[in-house]
Amino acid sequence: MGLKSKQQYFESLKDGREVFWGGERIEDVTTHPKFKIPLDVAAADYNYDDADARDVLTYTTEEGTQANRIFQIPRSSDDLMARVELYKHASIISGTSGVFMALLGIEDQLRAVKPMYADNIQRIYKHARDNDLRAAELITDAKGDRSRKAHQQDDPDLYLRIVERNDKGIVVRGAKLHITGAAIVHELVVMPTKTMNADEADYAVSFSVPANTPGVKMINRNFAPAELNEFDYPASARFSMPESFIVFDDVFVPWDRVFLAGEYELSMAFALSLGLWERTAGLIEAMEISQVMVGLAQLVTEQQGKGRNPAALSTIAELICYAETIRMGMEHACTNLETTPSGMVHPNVLAVNVAKYYYANNYHLMVKNLHDLAGGLVMTLPEEADLRSNEVGGYLRKYLHTKDDVDIEVRMRVYNLIRDLSADAYGGWQQVVSLQAGGGLFAQRVMMNRSYDMDAAREKALAHAGVVSA
Ligand SMILES: Cc1cc2nc3c(=O)[nH]c(=O)nc-3n(C[C@H](O)[C@H](O)[C@H](O)COP(=O)(O)OP(=O)(O)OC[C@H]3O[C@@H](n4cnc5c(N)ncnc54)[C@H](O)[C@@H]3O)c2cc1C
Repeated sequence: MGLKSKQQYFESLKDGREVFWGGERIEDVTTHPKFKIPLDVAAADYNYDDADARDVLTYTTEEGTQANRIFQIPRSSDDLMARVELYKHASIISGTSGVFMALLGIEDQLRAVKPMYADNIQRIYKHARDNDLRAAELITDAKGDRSRKAHQQDDPDLYLRIVERNDKGIVVRGAKLHITGAAIVHELVVMPTKTMNADEADYAVSFSVPANTPGVKMINRNFAPAELNEFDYPASARFSMPESFIVFDDVFVPWDRVFLAGEYELSMAFALSLGLWERTAGLIEAMEISQVMVGLAQLVTEQQGKGRNPAALSTIAELICYAETIRMGMEHACTNLETTPSGMVHPNVLAVNVAKYYYANNYHLMVKNLHDLAGGLVMTLPEEADLRSNEVGGYLRKYLHTKDDVDIEVRMRVYNLIRDLSADAYGGWQQVVSLQAGGGLFAQRVMMNRSYDMDAAREKALAHAGVVSA
């Protein structure tokens, strides 16, 4: 019980979970080279010995104990800002553990229909909080033919479903795809990927199971090479995480871990709540990355002696506009809070969706701007080992020279970050994630349609048209 040390976190993962990678069964993720960097990244969130980090990472619970701030239920704007600060420093594993906020956000709706579900959420949440556990978000199903509903697929398991109910619990079968970090967390929190209808009731299912539950098989891959160094891969070394293709091969879930089992009318609430918190986390990441892109654009421009070039300055202005619009959107979302009936606050739904959409819809254009400024070295810069080589290092120092005040190593680090962040390992991941994480562009358009104050807009238009008085 209580906060875990890094060592205790590693130990806690040696639990017999079924993990695969490249066809190999991996018995112990903590000693396998493929997981070294992801584990270093995730373990940094257990760095409670550092006093400064501890302030950001922890809070005092209602019961007076210390817990990771990821479990703090926001009750005020300050709480929410502390959460934003946490996300800026924490790994994506802490981000996915925010799934508990999505569950707690719909506790009232669940309690009204079946109090057991709300009680289960509270219990699992406290279990995770008090044992300093991390969770993965298992939402996206295989989905098969997109034009057909869950129960109409050729194979009824293409969406995860209940195949048996008994007095002890339910048995589920199916797969959840693209699940970030699952192999190195403790709890697998499952939710429906979409709104389910009456004929899809068996697919309206939500629960949480430990990662070592019998029948759960996690097949992994990653965007980054298993072995990389921080000089050549500055972004991947900080963010590398495996993604899991998770199979539920007739998995038993006891009733006290079930949050939904057939009440299809509630499936939409799960999707909406998860989407909100997922997009909020995505936006915080977007604030960080867009500011870094401005910085990189400025640095590379200065280093190449183009600091006064009107074309370069105007491209940088485009990047500034992008970064600032995202930041203002996030700020607006956090100052125009909304509150659930139980008193939990969350960022403004419309603002989060507008800002997330703007970020995702323009991300690739901003990468283009950065590449346009930076030139071919983004892809062709030799590696750190060449710089350190007695034979060729001197050539690199000679021919990468631009001006006296530009240090060659700094210049190489800037290019390496541009490449890794936008055109190589992490960059490839980010190009897809910016669009898909928290649902694709269409999902945000749907939410904008749902949450915009259309009555007010309609009235205003009618007033301007002279149909009604202003
Ligand atoms: C790196 C990465 C990490 C991720 N991490 C997680 C995670 O941790 N947990 C998790 O649950 N998910 C995760 N996801 C999944 C992500 O949420 C989905 O990729 C996203 O919701 C899109 O779903 P999909 O991939 O099945 O694509 P699709 O649903 O096939 O969507 C692709 C496109 O098709 C469109 N489309 C879909 N259905 C129809 C239709 N019937 N008619 C017309 N057009 C349609 C969509 O609007 C979209 O434009 C991750 C994804 C990535 C890439």
